[in-house]
Amino acid sequence: MTARLIIARPLPGTVGETRRVVHVFPLSPEETAPERLTAYCGETFGPGELELLDRPVGMPCVTCLRRSPGPGTAELPAGER
Ligand SMILES: [Zn+2]
Repeated sequence: MTARLIIARPLPGTVGETRRVVHVFPLSPEETAPERLTAYCGETFGPGELELLDRPVGMPCVTCLRRSPGPGTAELPAGER
């Protein structure tokens, strides 16, 4: 079974520009419209705070990338974990 993933970044103005990195969020099938989304890195965002993205753009959140099961981490050598 494949987990659904959302990629999104904070909207301009909600955080500083340097923190506008692209986070990865796990989305369970039961949660179609969760109140808050929690990224793999532990950051949480409420409604209206995120810009949902179709594909990764800009700077990714490194912690999210390392913790998410998506492409990019799956191909890391075992020693990288
Ligand atoms: Zn993150």
